[in-house]
Amino acid sequence: MEKFNFKKNLGQNFIFDKNLLRAIARAGDVEKSDVVLEIGAGAGTLTEVLAEMSSKVISFEIDESLRLTLESLRNKYKNIEFHFQDFMAADIDSLNLSSARVIANIPYYITTPIVFKLIDHIKKFKSILILVQKEVAERFASNCGGKEYGITSVILQSIFHVSIPRIVKKECFTPSPKVDSALVKMIPHNKYKISDFEKFKSFIHLCFSMRRKTLINNLKNNYDKEKIISALNENSYPLTVRPEQISVENFIKIFDSLN
Ligand code: SAM
Repeated sequence: MEKFNFKKNLGQNFIFDKNLLRAIARAGDVEKSDVVLEIGAGAGTLTEVLAEMSSKVISFEIDESLRLTLESLRNKYKNIEFHFQDFMAADIDSLNLSSARVIANIPYYITTPIVFKLIDHIKKFKSILILVQKEVAERFASNCGGKEYGITSVILQSIFHVSIPRIVKKECFTPSPKVDSALVKMIPHNKYKISDFEKFKSFIHLCFSMRRKTLINNLKNNYDKEKIISALNENSYPLTVRPEQISVENFIKIFDSLN
């Protein structure tokens, strides 16, 4: 890794501290029998720890200039499979994953697209642990009434238990980014039956289209006003309720009443 030219546009902030890397793997509950999917291998430091702790690591890296470093790691650990390609273009079905764990220090510039790509294949994963910018983590895990509670919080928490097991200070990365990061852990739950998840996602976008407006105002061009009022009454909300005051569970109930 001497004289490596870090590419900011690829979100290249690497971690070399073995203790921290092991703590990340532990926070992801990785066990010897697990298959782990990693997005963004970088210099392979997390990949190596994961290879030691699991049965197989499937790791994606877009930057060809890391190929030699990663291939020499591959020669040491036969249970690593590298894919030198853009994860966003990867065919997840062809990986034949089942009950896999995602553990990754992901490139920040595509955090949300990566998460939504993983959600499209949620049945293949038993847990997802990703290192992201702290404020993004807070948005993911924020509860109803919280300042950060919004579209992503509701969509993610409708299918996952979301928690933040650890904050990672910016000084732990090379090069050091401008802001701190946090681990976000997402474990799929089956608490709610959502009839049409794509439609639910669009509905939540619509509910928050104007955050400071009432839910009725955000929905009234797309749904019958009387129906919205009765859905709010059924869930004991005043007609002035704003989207950030509605819990995940109640968003699902209101969605069911209106659709
Ligand atoms: N896992 C390493 C670590 O913890 O030190 C590197 C993490 S770094 C934050 C993210 C890595 O993702 C970089 O190596 C970057 O080149 C890679 N990357 C960026 N965009 C990618 C993409 N679309 N698909 C796959 N890898 C990508």
